[in-house]
Amino acid sequence: MNLKKIAVRNPATGEFVGEIPDQGAREVAAAVARARQAFAQWRQTAAHEKAECLQRIAQGFRDRTESLAVLLTREGGKPLRENRDEVGWCASAFDYYAGLCRTERGRVIPSIEKSQLAFVLHEPYGVVGAIVPWNYPLLLAAWKLAPALAAGNAVVLKPPKQTPLSTVACRDIYSCLPKGAVEIVTGAGATTGEALVSDPGTDLIAFTGSLEMGRRVAAVCAGMVKKTHLELGGKDAFVVCEDSDLGVAVKAVAWAAFLNAGQVCTSTERVYVHRSIHREFLERLQAFTESLQVGDGMDPQTDVGPLIGGKYRKKVEEHVAQALRRGAELVCGGRRPAKLKKGFFYEPTVLCGVDHDMKVMREETFGPVCPVMPYRDFDEAVRLVNDSPYGLGANLYTRDARRVKQFFECVQAGTIWVNDPLTDNDAGPFGGFKASGSSRELGEEGLREFQQAKHVHWDFEQQAKPWWYPYSKKPQ
Ligand code: NAD
Repeated sequence: MNLKKIAVRNPATGEFVGEIPDQGAREVAAAVARARQAFAQWRQTAAHEKAECLQRIAQGFRDRTESLAVLLTREGGKPLRENRDEVGWCASAFDYYAGLCRTERGRVIPSIEKSQLAFVLHEPYGVVGAIVPWNYPLLLAAWKLAPALAAGNAVVLKPPKQTPLSTVACRDIYSCLPKGAVEIVTGAGATTGEALVSDPGTDLIAFTGSLEMGRRVAAVCAGMVKKTHLELGGKDAFVVCEDSDLGVAVKAVAWAAFLNAGQVCTSTERVYVHRSIHREFLERLQAFTESLQVGDGMDPQTDVGPLIGGKYRKKVEEHVAQALRRGAELVCGGRRPAKLKKGFFYEPTVLCGVDHDMKVMREETFGPVCPVMPYRDFDEAVRLVNDSPYGLGANLYTRDARRVKQFFECVQAGTIWVNDPLTDNDAGPFGGFKASGSSRELGEEGLREFQQAKHVHWDFEQQAKPWWYPYSKKPQ
């Protein structure tokens, strides 16, 4: 059957990069069936062999760093050096779970009688359907694949339609696994994504993407009583206290707000600065932001690449326009760069005079926009940070240990970064509070998400148990 093709275009130049078939329910069902067969073999594979496979996959990423990074930049626009990091982090996640895979199977628990052994086995679910967005397509897939495979599952992966080619190029990296243990299906969310979620052969759906689509995926899975992981959007805050080194804090804020043109789920999208340093902070942030180079990610001088598409840039422009209509002031940026006619570029933008009624302070903007608001005292800063439907991450710059403690105890977010924004650690769980999600990736917690507990109660003596004895009471 001839399937419709989806073209992939470079968001910096509009150039055609490649195309993918838009696969539907029939192709997805076939991939799920192949994964089911592979699961039977993979779950029985000895732990040390699983670990060796994961390490080979890690090495596969390292060996292809340059070619994958170039492809990521051509299809997604992110600067090349950031994409080299993305590929390196994939390798690191597979290495980490190779380590856990060698040691982790469950635990022995106290039994009721001497003649008994009781234990908890951590079992795989079966076939995992993994769906990821375009901003870090390889990394976000690795954060699902590595723990899911370490736990003994097979995976059917659906990359995003905007940046699918790098994922397809990884097919041979997974060839050390039993055939079918990682299947890749391509297409749009409405066809391939929906088919994967609703296929009765997927036992768990691990979804990373927007809140809107996450709700939809959760609703379909709830109807099927299918386990779901949701890693959704964010509106991360950054608090700068008056005791901070301003030169350092300004660069940290700009990096956290403009990395990948602000298209990071943990991008800083709200900045709260103590009012005593607010003016100086804005002056320095403006100077630094205006020094950033906007351009094609293939150019080594580029700091900020394009947005992924017209729909996404329009949303950024709407947020900025609404803030300005409601009284915000433009410190810098706020427009498409005059020199870059092609591509979906937008200048890194700083706003002041903002409040929490503006979209730019409440909804996910997902672009290079950094609104800055002064606060009076630290209690108010914490209150403002928590005044959001989202709770993915939060940043703090201070040297005051009491404030640090108040921040990590009171702020409702899955990750708290103090004096070092947006640093991921394979051993530390990553995920959101509130509308930012319902699961955790990375760390031991990330492995647990792909395991279900099975309690085994074993008596060597074959107990006679008269039916009228109360349940859970020991027979006489
Ligand atoms: P999106 O929700 O539009 O798409 C995400 C993925 O879901 C894509 O692969 C898409 O094809 C698929 N999809 C779309 N509709 C579907 C459906 N009905 N059924 C099944 N699959 C469907 O999001 P996006 O615009 O690609 O990505 C940006 C969003 O992702 C932002 O909100 C961002 O914050 C979020 N994100 C979250 C994390 C995290 O770890 N929490 C990481 C990166 C990005």
